[in-house]
Amino acid sequence: MNLSERDRAVNWHPYTQMKTADEIIPIIRGEGIYLFDDEGKQYIDAVSSWWVTLHGHAHPYIAKRVSEQLHTLEQVIFAGFTHEPAIQLSENLLKILPENQKKIFYSDNGSTAIEVALKICIQYAYNHDNKKTKILAFKNAYHGDTFGAMSVSGRSAWTNPFGEMLFEVIFIDVPTVENLDDLKTFIKSISDEIACFIYEPLIQGAAGMLMHKAEDLSELMKFCREQKILMIQDEVFTGFGRTGKLFAADHLSEQPDIMCFSKGLTGGTMPMGITSCSQEIFEAFLSDDQHKTLFHGHSFTANPLACTAALASMELLLQAETLRNIDLIVKKHTAFSEVLRQHSKVDHVRQTGTIIAWEVINNYQTSYFNTTGKKLYKEFLKRGIILRPLGNTMYLVPPYCITAEQLDYIYHQIIEVLDHF
Ligand SMILES: *Cc1c(COP(=O)(O)O)cnc(C)c1O
Repeated sequence: MNLSERDRAVNWHPYTQMKTADEIIPIIRGEGIYLFDDEGKQYIDAVSSWWVTLHGHAHPYIAKRVSEQLHTLEQVIFAGFTHEPAIQLSENLLKILPENQKKIFYSDNGSTAIEVALKICIQYAYNHDNKKTKILAFKNAYHGDTFGAMSVSGRSAWTNPFGEMLFEVIFIDVPTVENLDDLKTFIKSISDEIACFIYEPLIQGAAGMLMHKAEDLSELMKFCREQKILMIQDEVFTGFGRTGKLFAADHLSEQPDIMCFSKGLTGGTMPMGITSCSQEIFEAFLSDDQHKTLFHGHSFTANPLACTAALASMELLLQAETLRNIDLIVKKHTAFSEVLRQHSKVDHVRQTGTIIAWEVINNYQTSYFNTTGKKLYKEFLKRGIILRPLGNTMYLVPPYCITAEQLDYIYHQIIEVLDHF
């Protein structure tokens, strides 16, 4: 049996209807922006392997650091014990986060980072003896696949089977100049019951790369602050350079109470989640009363290998060369936006930093399940480029090590495919 056949016999893949799934491609190795399959065919990873890879695959520096750590300390219980990589990572991260962020809580992935944030907000109210339990979120939000994270995500085909079991969330539109006054009036009317507001800043990724303006979000945040509504900023996708600045927070004039990170955190090397918070939030859990403790943890909390991967990735991220290359990607995407806008098959071109997205016009409806995306996906695979449309939304989220020539090659292939689509 070849690898695809062996895989088919034993593995159940994410977001995949296994009955109708096309052949699943075995990847043997990765290097820079490339992945290589079992027949030696190479693919450009233009979606950074589900938005996680920052510096390219199998980066030698991250590999070296993780390998050294693996020979020193691979894991230790994080209750009652600590270690250098977790301390150093928290110190380094807090230096580049908004200055009100003071404490780091470790977990395993984006969804768990969200669960921790939600539990902190609900228990913050509990510890203060008030009864705020409702949560405010954006329509079309995506915050992960565990139950809490699903609850604060927009209702969709993904959440339908669990509808009855998801807790109550009040969904609002993303802010625009036009609707801000109405949003404020509405929020004010319910602010007594609201424990927190959770949002993806600037860009709603999984919803189809929907974007909103930093000024409008800042204004909404300012209002939530006035209404004493805690804010959870989900930077699981936007963190670590994706928006052209280190964090989406760097585009905003207000600071959230809590922030969530995962995807780019380890440069795409190892799973890890982080929930950071302000001193005020942290202090709400300090008490002689044991019941005010945050009773949450995972077996692999602050795993030393993952912390080391994150430390190495952040070192690479902050190098002048990486920051220059992020700027280059932003500028090249902006120029390509103009080309796309002239194309008859393209609609609604939009960009936030290194992320560019557009709709492909066809005669079918726009939805995650329509077949346009699948056709495009296959066509680009044939051409050696991994692009994974969401419905008929196409987007690029390249690793930061991509060169101008490699970007031009991808742009060229996109125009060629759209010309004949
Ligand atoms: C991917 C994502 C999550 C969930 O992260 P996982 O690691 O996949 O659980 C949460 N929020 C946002 C904004 C995401 O893009």
